[in-house]
Order: sequence, then C-alpha cells, then structure tokens
Amino acid sequence: MTIYLKGKSIIDCVSAKPINGGVIAVHDGKIQAILEKAPDGARVLDCGNATLMPGLIDSHIHVGEDAGRDESVKQQHLQPDPLRAIRGAVTLKNDLMAGVTSARALGDGQGCVDVIIRDAIERGEIIGPRLQVAAHAIRPSHGTAPEIGIAADGEDEIRKAVRKAIFDGADVIKLFVSNVSRGETYLDYLKGDLTQVSAYTKREMEVAVEEASRCGIKVAGHCIGGKVVQWALEAGLASLEHANLIEEEDIPYFLKYGGYISDPNLILFFDPVRGFESPTIKTHKWNELPSWWHEKVWRAREQTVRVMGKALKAGVKFALGTDLNHTQLWLECKYFIEKIGADNMRALAAVTMDSAKLLGVDDQVGSLEAGKLADIIAVDGDPLADISALSRVKLVMKGGEIVKQKI
Ligand SMILES: [Zn+2]
Repeated sequence: MTIYLKGKSIIDCVSAKPINGGVIAVHDGKIQAILEKAPDGARVLDCGNATLMPGLIDSHIHVGEDAGRDESVKQQHLQPDPLRAIRGAVTLKNDLMAGVTSARALGDGQGCVDVIIRDAIERGEIIGPRLQVAAHAIRPSHGTAPEIGIAADGEDEIRKAVRKAIFDGADVIKLFVSNVSRGETYLDYLKGDLTQVSAYTKREMEVAVEEASRCGIKVAGHCIGGKVVQWALEAGLASLEHANLIEEEDIPYFLKYGGYISDPNLILFFDPVRGFESPTIKTHKWNELPSWWHEKVWRAREQTVRVMGKALKAGVKFALGTDLNHTQLWLECKYFIEKIGADNMRALAAVTMDSAKLLGVDDQVGSLEAGKLADIIAVDGDPLADISALSRVKLVMKGGEIVKQKI
C-alpha cells in the first residue's frame, strides 16, 4: 500500500529551494515520487505545518558512550562490553527518535559492540539508525584513546589490524593519526589532546588505505592538525575527524584530494551547556583544570573559526557529527551556521546528502528522491529560517516504517 506524506513544505536536499506543498509517495519502503497532491482516496499522513526532509545522518558517533552520563569518556569506554551494548541500544534508539536514520560509529573498544548493535538493528531486534561501524579503531602504540583502539605500528601490523577489523565486520576503518598519549591519567590525556603531533607516518596511512580500498572500504582518521593533515589527504583518507587545528595551507589539499572535514566538534567549543567550558559537566570542572588546557581550547576554537570558515568558502566538504553528544546534531548545525558561516541549506546538506556521500550511501539515502529508501523526518517549523526546527522532530520514518509519530 502506498502512503502519502504531506507537510507545509518539502526540503529534498538536492534542489536549491524547498518545494511548497506537495506530497511524498512511499511504497514498499522506498520513495516512489514527490507529487503535487495525493490521488483521491489515497492514504495521506498530514504533518500539518511541519517540514518534510530526509532523515539525518550523523557522521561520527560512538555506540556505547554518551556525554549525558556522569562518567568520564574513559570510564565509559572501560565498562564491560555487555553493559556498553545495553547502553548502546538505548542511546541509538534516542538518536533515531531525534531524527538520525543513519550514522557512522568510529570506535567502540575491542569487543565489537558496534558490530553487534548494527546487526541487531538490521535484524529488527532493536531500533536505531542504519549503522556503519569501525569494529576496531586502530592507533599507534603511543596514540590517543588507548581504551578504544588496538595498537598497530609499522606497515605489517597496520595491514593486519585493517584486515582483522574487516574480518570482524568493519564497514569503515578508523585510524588515530594525530595526537599522542604519554601516560594513563586524565591530565596525560589532555596534554596529548588538541595538538598537531603526527602519530602515524604517511606510509602507514597509505598502507591502511591500500588494504581497506581493496575491499571497497573507506578510511577515517582522527586528525586534529599538523603535518599529518596533508599526509592523510595525500594518502587518501576519506575524512579527517575534528580537524580543529588545520591551517590555511591545508585547504588546497582538501580540495585536491577530496577529503572531508567530519565532526568538527563545534558543540565542544561553543556550547555553554555541553561544551568544554560548561560549569555543569559532572566528570570534571573547567575552572579546576590547568591554565595550559584552557589556552589550548581557546587557541583551537580561534583556529576552528578562522580556518574552517575559509575552508567552507573555498568548497571543502563537511559532514557533521556529534561524537558523544548524541541527539544533538541540530546543535552542531546551529554552530556551523553561527560560527563557521554556513547558510542553513549547507548545514542541512552536511547532515544529509553530503554525509551520505562521505559514507558512500548516497544512492540509497541522504535526499528525498524517487527510488531511495524512505528515510524521512518531519520537523516542527522551517529549518531554513530557524535551524532549531531540527530539534523538534515530530515524525520519523525509516525504510517506510513509521518509528515515531507525534503529529
Ligand atoms: Zn569520536
């Protein structure tokens, strides 16, 4: 049976302008057509004043971790896998209810919790976004986030780690290519974070891309800044995650090699409630952290605004993600507009069609076009006029099935 979704307007995320009025015909889990009106007697779901648009795509999450908990990131990563899987099931349901119908999970420890959750969603045992997962994040021995990545150094170990991740179910390879750790404490971690230290060599990254691409798999690199930015782009990494300390001279490399900036961490730098400087974060207090950390954050924020704004204007591709701030993709969009200078349509593209292209799934999702999967959301208001409409998701359809309806 065909169902017709009707709203005040439709943003298909491929046309330059929204379609006023109109209906989306959905049949057998797919978008059949966008029509001016439904045929007489058809089954119409009227979403009133809501705007219809493609389901959101979060380019960077972690399944078992959520910034909303009272535990530090590290504590969450170190919880037993069964608990992280249970938490992941809850978190991903929340993501879906916030309109996220696809997401890329970039590292969840060594127990393959992300693979298990992805497959449980595909089998319909739990509900959540369509997932691409990393299975094992790969890091050098001195790399950051030791609790979520397996260590691999040199060409042979990297080949082996990439092959193991693929064997264990990876859809994407995650490498930690910048920043190093010199100890286990939180301060050691902060000392290594937001730096421009290259952790992998160019050759090591080339090897990872070589292994992954033979299997049709892309490589994402945690990459804050430094010489490794240009190496990573030359090596063929599909996305540099965060990229908060990139320099202006890196921009031509993004343009030449086509790599994305993914999950630029805008919530962390700009949001007074969820960001670095929030007084309400329960795991640590900003004012009690050392001044060198404050200075690092402020420097990275200044550089993010200055260089990413230029990168955006120059045509560098962006995909937005939430990392641990699940359900808050709309907030990333808000700061992408307010701080980096994107217009609202570009921000919507960065959480739909552009993200779909990064994930290599733009033939199936990311826009409202005939033949694509019916991943559709209805939001209260017009996100082209006020991006906060994205935070008011009234209806979520995934693959033609309505999983949320508050209309
Ligand atoms: Zn992450």
